Amino acid sequence: MIEWRISIFGLGYVGLSHAIAYALKGVKVIGFDVDREKLKSIKKGISPIKEPGVVENLGKLVKSGRLKVTGSHKDAVLSTNITFISVNTPSLPDGYADLSQVRSAISRIGEVLYDKNGYHLVVVNSTVPPRTTEDLVKPLLEETSGKIVGEEIGLCFMPEFLREGSAIRDILEPWRIVIGEVDKKSGDVLESFLLDVHGKRLPPVIRTTPVNAELIKYGSNAFLAMRVSFINTMARVCELLPGADVDVVAYGMGLDPRIGSRYLSAGPGFGGSCLPKDLKALIKTCENLGYDPLLFKVIDEVNEQQLKHVVEIVEQRLGNLKDKKVAVLGLAFKAGTDDIRDSQAIRIIRYLVEKGAEVKVYDPEAMENARNVLKDLVEYSTSPYECIKDCDVTIIVTDWSEFKDLKAEDYRKLMKKPIIVDTRRIYRERLEEFNERTVYIPIGIGKK
Ligand code: NAD
Repeated sequence: MIEWRISIFGLGYVGLSHAIAYALKGVKVIGFDVDREKLKSIKKGISPIKEPGVVENLGKLVKSGRLKVTGSHKDAVLSTNITFISVNTPSLPDGYADLSQVRSAISRIGEVLYDKNGYHLVVVNSTVPPRTTEDLVKPLLEETSGKIVGEEIGLCFMPEFLREGSAIRDILEPWRIVIGEVDKKSGDVLESFLLDVHGKRLPPVIRTTPVNAELIKYGSNAFLAMRVSFINTMARVCELLPGADVDVVAYGMGLDPRIGSRYLSAGPGFGGSCLPKDLKALIKTCENLGYDPLLFKVIDEVNEQQLKHVVEIVEQRLGNLKDKKVAVLGLAFKAGTDDIRDSQAIRIIRYLVEKGAEVKVYDPEAMENARNVLKDLVEYSTSPYECIKDCDVTIIVTDWSEFKDLKAEDYRKLMKKPIIVDTRRIYRERLEEFNERTVYIPIGIGKK
């Protein structure tokens, strides 16, 4: 087995999770990030993100020297033979991906490669729009390094499919690996690295052109977003039909192997750092090519509608929201993470506040991140019980198990009026209890 030494540019949710996963497999990893505070924290063994597996392993991997971090991009590149890029590609105001972090990372790597002897492979893990690897990354890398891709240096785009909350497992046990190779040697080197990391558990590896790999990533995320918008549309139909229940409908649909059960859970709509921004970037890519992607646009519109629908349910119950107290349980874009980027909860809160409501919030992991963006717009609670106290309505936005511990009696005793809008139907097994003691409004279930 070759002794792999890799560098990772960008130590966020993707980069740091990769650093931990590969270091756990015995790879020597050196991470570089432009954020000095992040580096300081990682050096101390304190994870800047609350990701299972990262939090627990960071300290020991740093201590053992298997995972190092540096503020010098030069050291990172010079001491390794593969560099992975996991910087962010957020949305520009027009929806297209902002590639400035990718440009900056490539330029830095290229400048170091100018003086480096021996073969070096660059792998882009960040999600980038179709043709970015060939039309932007390759020329920039060749220009800054003075070397030709395919000879002294290599370049691949390898999309990342991990889910926050199970990132380490998803990296170490992926369903498939997609390698978009600019040339055959680049793909060969990356595949042999992956073979050493995954051994006999190497999943199907698709080796293809960079543009196909880029489209596989965007297509996958758009498809998942479509499933969410689809089931949320079914949920709206169910709400209008007495006796209808979206979970039963989704279960019955999902047993068909042509459909499958994942991403068929009705809720407040999709959020997070990937689906919304990647869908928007795909729409903008199509428009730039002169094609109007009707389906992709509708997925986004349905998602927007669903968010407003949650607020409308509250308004139907309470009337004018001015001075009404609303408790929001769940702030991250889903349970199991502290990531609030493009979270539906944060957007719901902003709507409520615009309409004059006083909002109290609670999340088991995301309070600190929420505080950074919501500031004094809301009141922060230290438990779900404190959060619902004296409120006119509670909106459950994510399905943290901690919220499931609450009893109907808790809502009845603590709230001003025990009205619960449950976007995840977390109390569906206790419908009788909740219907008896509270005004329980689970989305996607038809009224009697
Ligand atoms: P993030 O914002 O958490 O992390 C990005 C990191 O890159 C930050 O720490 C930032 O300081 C650093 N950075 C910025 N410019 C840099 C530079 N020039 N050199 C070195 N570091 C730099 O982002 P993320 O959530 O980890 O996502 C990274 C990419 O992976 C995005 O393209 C995203 O779409 C994609 N992706 C994310 C997920 C996910 O669940 N978060 C899943 C799959 C794919």
